[in-house]
Amino acid sequence: MSPEKTTAPKRKEEPLLECPECGELAVSTKLTTHTFDYGHGKEAVQITATLPLRVCGHCEFEYYDKEGQDARHEAVCRHLGVMTPTEIRRLREDLGLSRAEFADLTGLGDATVARWERGALIQNTGNDRYLRLLGSHKNVDHLRKALSV
Ligand SMILES: [Zn+2]
Repeated sequence: MSPEKTTAPKRKEEPLLECPECGELAVSTKLTTHTFDYGHGKEAVQITATLPLRVCGHCEFEYYDKEGQDARHEAVCRHLGVMTPTEIRRLREDLGLSRAEFADLTGLGDATVARWERGALIQNTGNDRYLRLLGSHKNVDHLRKALSV
């Protein structure tokens, strides 16, 4: 349940999860390559992502959970060339700002930023570029100075 995502190459002895189907503590994780359609009409593309598939060793039920949805969302962001939810949260945390403080400073909506960080909404190109500029402390200082006049 930790919001932290590590990129450690080897997970050691991951505890088994409880199966939502049979209730046994027998679910392990298998990394799988998953291809899905994204977009409509002329802009429709196929995106391939590595997702953690949960597999029950007891009843053989297979499913994707929140972590799988997040990985899928990140693949879409990478396809669109925009920052991922994790990158946005990290950017804000690097500035040492709470979401409310970040919203105050940037003029972005608090609820909107929360949706971007949760992966419920993808920022448009203009906002994505604004966010990237905010990744520079120099730009943030510049903004702070301009606002304090
Ligand atoms: Zn099961």
